[in-house]
Amino acid sequence: MPGAWTKRRDIAPLADGQAEFEFAIPLVEFPRLAAQLARPEGTAQGRVRFSRVLGLAVAELVVSGEAWLVCQRCLEPMRRLLAGESRLALVVDAAGADAVPEGLEAMIVEDERVSIHELVEEELLLDLPNVPLHEDPADCVGSAASVVVRVQDETRQTPFTQLGELLKRDQ
Ligand SMILES: [Zn+2]
Repeated sequence: MPGAWTKRRDIAPLADGQAEFEFAIPLVEFPRLAAQLARPEGTAQGRVRFSRVLGLAVAELVVSGEAWLVCQRCLEPMRRLLAGESRLALVVDAAGADAVPEGLEAMIVEDERVSIHELVEEELLLDLPNVPLHEDPADCVGSAASVVVRVQDETRQTPFTQLGELLKRDQ
C-alpha cells in the first residue's frame, strides 16, 4: 500500500502513544534519493518508533536495504548496503533544531505533521555517503586490478582495436 507511507500524521499523538510502524518502501519512491541511484532497484525496510525524550517528539529509525549508487571515482554502478540507525528529534524551526541535545539529529517539521516516507528519506540521506566510492579502489573499473579482467573480456571488442590503430598511427 504505497499511499500509507506518504500519509502525514500529527506528531504529538504518535510520540505520546509511542506508535510503531514497520515499513518496506521501494527506493525509487524517494525523490531526493532517486537522482543518486544508478539502478532503480532496492527497498528500504525497517522500523520507526516514536517517543518523547526530554519533552521532544523523537522518531527512532532503523533502516536496512541495498542501493545501487554511482561510484564517483570510476562512474560505474556500485552496490551499497543501507544500514542506518538514527534518533530524529522532530522540531518546528531552526531555533528548535539548535536546542536538540546531543545524540539526537534534528529534523524540521514545520506543521507538526510527518509521514513515515519523509522520515525514512531523511534517514537514508543521513546514511548515504555524499561522495559514494567503491570501498576498495581495486574494485573501480579502470583500476589496474580490474583492467586485467576487462582486457581479457573485451579483446574482441572495438575500443581496443581502435586503440591499436591509434597507437600504430602515432609511430
Ligand atoms: Zn569505483
